[in-house]
Amino acid sequence: MTEIFKNLIAGEWVGAAKTSRNINPSNTNDVVGEYAQGSVEDLNNAVAAAKAAFPAWGRSNPQERYEILKKASDEILARREELGKLLSREEGKTLPEGIGEATRAGQIFAFFAGECLRLGGEAIPSVRPGVGVEVTREPVGIVGMITPWNFPIAIPAWKLAPALAYGNCVVLKPADLVPGSAWALVDIIQRAGLPKGVLNLVMGRGSVVGQALLEHKDVHAISFTGSVNTGRKVAAACIAGNPMKKVQLEMGGKNPLVVLDDADLKTAVETAVNGAFFSTGQRCTASSRLIVQNGIHDRFVDAVGERLKNLVVDDALKSGTHIGPVVDQSQLDQDMKYIAIAKDEGAKLHWGGELLNRETPGFYLQPALFTETTNAMRISREEVFGPVANVVRAKDYEEALALANDTEFGLSAGICTTSLKYATHFRRNSEAGMVMVNLPTAGVDYHVPFGGRKGSSYGPREQGAYAKEFYTTVKTAYTLA
Ligand code: NAD
Repeated sequence: MTEIFKNLIAGEWVGAAKTSRNINPSNTNDVVGEYAQGSVEDLNNAVAAAKAAFPAWGRSNPQERYEILKKASDEILARREELGKLLSREEGKTLPEGIGEATRAGQIFAFFAGECLRLGGEAIPSVRPGVGVEVTREPVGIVGMITPWNFPIAIPAWKLAPALAYGNCVVLKPADLVPGSAWALVDIIQRAGLPKGVLNLVMGRGSVVGQALLEHKDVHAISFTGSVNTGRKVAAACIAGNPMKKVQLEMGGKNPLVVLDDADLKTAVETAVNGAFFSTGQRCTASSRLIVQNGIHDRFVDAVGERLKNLVVDDALKSGTHIGPVVDQSQLDQDMKYIAIAKDEGAKLHWGGELLNRETPGFYLQPALFTETTNAMRISREEVFGPVANVVRAKDYEEALALANDTEFGLSAGICTTSLKYATHFRRNSEAGMVMVNLPTAGVDYHVPFGGRKGSSYGPREQGAYAKEFYTTVKTAYTLA
């Protein structure tokens, strides 16, 4: 009997008329569970519950919030292996990657437990005699969250932890494709002692639950992570409504990794393979554009090709698997479409790109590496979101930097070099929000800001102490003494 997972509304688990099947992409015969597909009415009830809970929670004692977040962190970390397994089963990243992501969720809650106690304000001398000025931060109110499928526990965690730490009430709509990890996370936080209605979970379709969340007049802010196309609609809806909503968007990438002639070849190959192909290339920070200087180009391409031949693509939960399956049929179709586009554009397929059969039916794709591509080709300009990368040649550092910045996106960018001069210049002149030197473009710390520029991000940064820019609003108070 398949287990049915309900929505959390006003502190109660509430069933829905419709459910959707959460399928294991490593084995499509394996059903992870049936998850509620919420309605507009469910969403409205969730917002009403959040609104009713806000006056008390918004003024709650930071010690109370600290204890709840710390307790949630402790349980996430104690159950990291079980949560990691659920994550890998529903999303398809390998078990070590799944456990790593669950661990990160626990660490984020520990960090923001501390932040509950650290939120301060400022007392500033007035320019007028006898007047005192005080600047304080208050919660924004009711925050709606819309999350994607590729980090099913970390992204809900890095939005929920600061929102709750700073006294907001929340309605979370996770990705309909992969709701299991978000459900487990919400269950843990709720049992950690949250008052009813502070946190609500409404699973379901973006066009139904997500859209209703964007249009609800009692929601004050929306934090969204997902594709650029959806992000634009989210921002437009937030501004169109009355009152307008505060909005934060984290979206796609076409992240460059520059490899200079002076790079350590082994470091460059590992950095490229990890950044481009691990987690099945399904990371917004994946280095899908490898910009390689002529002198090292052939050695680099051959070494990456050899490394790819030795990577095991198989069931995400099997030990020894390096790359799990693609998340579902529709993402696999998109990957295959871009492989065909690259070939049509004249790119040379150096390795991979074939569908693979394994013991169980799943969405297995050999990682694909294209060479002889230009930065003008669609394979260089559009986000594929799969294990597909292409190499663009550069004659020198200056051309490599120009190519790296010649993109609509600006999330993460990397360089492999042993030159301090080039590393420093790249850090200063890259037009990305995050820059990596001799490290993969994907893979970031949990206590520092995360986010991009240009088409990749909009609004205040996520994570670390910077998260308060979004989850609090500033009040300036003047007092005549
Ligand atoms: P998506 O845009 O299809 O969906 C994201 C979320 O939006 C889902 O919960 C979906 O149900 C919801 N949604 C869809 N239509 C909606 C609507 N009309 N109104 C409200 N909500 C709606 O993205 P996805 O396929 O789930 O995720 C992949 C994308 O996410 C990639 O582009 C990737 O780069 C991006 N991503 C970005 C970051 C980052 O931090 N920059 C992190 C992870 C993923």
